Order: sequence, then C-alpha cells, then structure tokens
Amino acid sequence: MISADSGAYLLAIDLAREMTLDISTLSPLMLPAGRYIYCGSAYGPGGIKARVARHLRQDKSLRWHVDRLTLGGRVSQVAALIGGSECTLMAGLCALPGVSVPVLNFGSSDCRTCPAHLAAVPNKFDIEEFVSGFRSPT
Ligand SMILES: [Zn+2]
Repeated sequence: MISADSGAYLLAIDLAREMTLDISTLSPLMLPAGRYIYCGSAYGPGGIKARVARHLRQDKSLRWHVDRLTLGGRVSQVAALIGGSECTLMAGLCALPGVSVPVLNFGSSDCRTCPAHLAAVPNKFDIEEFVSGFRSPT
C-alpha cells in the first residue's frame, strides 16, 4: 500500500532485454538487461500514491525520462519514504557496492547534486530493505 503523503519514492524497474533509449540529449543510448532503480519525489496533489499510479499506467504520454523505462520494462517493486528526498536516496544507492549510474543526467534535469536519478543495481536488490534504512525507528 503506497502512501498518499508527500515524499520520495523508488521504483525497481526490470529490463528483460537490452533497451535503446530514444532520448537525444542523453548518452549512452543503450541500457543492458537488468534491474534499475529510479529515485523520484512527489510533493504535489495526491502525493506519492498518485505519482506511482502514473508510473504504473501503460497509457501515458512520454513526459519524463523514466516513462520510457516504465513502458519498456516492468516495475517490479515500489518503496516510499514519506517526507524524504530522492537525492538522499540516490546518494545512498551510489555508496553501495555493485551500484552504478548507467546514464548521466537521466531523470535529474532539475537536480544539481546527483549524477542522475537512475541507478543500475544487482538483480536481487530489494528497495524496501534499502529504504527501511532511511526510516527513523518508531
Ligand atoms: Zn538529485
């Protein structure tokens, strides 16, 4: 169950086969098969729930870079961090072994601190487990 509160979220997107990105401003244009993590945030109406619902829809126009991935791949897991920042999550991902940034500036056009908001991770990477490390204990 995804919260309607505002905050950051992660999408785990699995590509069954390599995918060519048709985005002229980015390079490289080919993503190998595997698991990718997109870091986003939603502070508008409907919060994380509404944003994630859009990511999961197949009938949408291509508005964001990540739309090409959610249409060409499969969203296998979603995790939310209420009140969180996608940049904090991305920095945490980048600090882990086996994690890399496959496409510079992917999804981070409006961010000045991250190399991208998309990371390539090992196939069994669990984003719920990862995000739980950012939640304050209750
Ligand atoms: Zn960022």
